[in-house]
Amino acid sequence: MSFDALLGQAAARDTLVRALESGRVHHAYRFEGPGGVGKELAAFRLAQALVCTEPGPFACGACSACRRALTISDRAPHVPLHPDVILIEQGIYPENVIGRDERQGVSVEQIRRIVLAQVGFTPAEGKARVFIFRRADELTPQAANALLKTLEEPRPATHFILMTARPEKLLPTIRSRSMLVRFGALSDQVLSRLLREKAVAEALIADVVPLAEGSVDKALELAEPERAESRAAFLRAVAQAVHAGTAGAAVKLAEGADSDRRATRDRLFDLASHLSALARKADPDDALALARGYETVMAATENIEMANASPAHVLTDLALSLHRVGAGEALAQASAPRTPSA
Ligand SMILES: [Zn+2]
Repeated sequence: MSFDALLGQAAARDTLVRALESGRVHHAYRFEGPGGVGKELAAFRLAQALVCTEPGPFACGACSACRRALTISDRAPHVPLHPDVILIEQGIYPENVIGRDERQGVSVEQIRRIVLAQVGFTPAEGKARVFIFRRADELTPQAANALLKTLEEPRPATHFILMTARPEKLLPTIRSRSMLVRFGALSDQVLSRLLREKAVAEALIADVVPLAEGSVDKALELAEPERAESRAAFLRAVAQAVHAGTAGAAVKLAEGADSDRRATRDRLFDLASHLSALARKADPDDALALARGYETVMAATENIEMANASPAHVLTDLALSLHRVGAGEALAQASAPRTPSA
């Protein structure tokens, strides 16, 4: 059945299955939830079910419409081959199609030329037309306003699926015209299963799942070999400096670090995730120190982002602050070489 691949999202899945079974698919859904938890999979599977030409409420998965709904063109624009499954995303259509170079969000031109130019007509292949907005929060205010009327009262067989990981960025008028389907972070169990299906090594799965915040995209990114190795090296260096707790060790950490602010910020996010993962497993005393450590790291990322502090300066301070909140011992233990399990 079409939603079998959607793991760990029982509520969302039930909503969509019931809608298809009853023949009452809403004309505008808003899929809210973090990145990499299945929103896009669900959106495409819903679109597939709506354009499938075989009888029955669900996608047959085998007809030409079903196959083209899920196949993205390998030439630009990289959109589904089915003309009635229409992707809306910043920069996805070339300038000669929408009449402008799109750098700041989804432009009103994209809405006019790709959405409004088609909504007045019956679907190209007759069954249904589905507009999938990959990041609805990237609509510019003009684009969102241009969409409102259509979103409220589209023609029959026209559907909108607005995906977003940042619902607070949507205009209230867009929110009020769409029906919420919530997608949650994936459980560690589901995440591990998905990584196993993608042939990620078991040891790496154990490393990245606690850091991935329930997102399979994030987990896969963390599992890239180069990234995994440099993350581990950074965490070891931090653990050493924090454990030592001396100015000399802190300066040494800073000297060995990347001078790029963005790279340092990403490293600090890794460190924060690492601390929060350790805190979940720690005994109460350590958990408190690790939670304070987490706050300290988040404050440091803010210094890098907002206050333009230099990475070296931030790291030196951070190592000493983490030592002061007592996170050194737990960090050092966690980064000690693992004894091979029998
Ligand atoms: Zn089909």
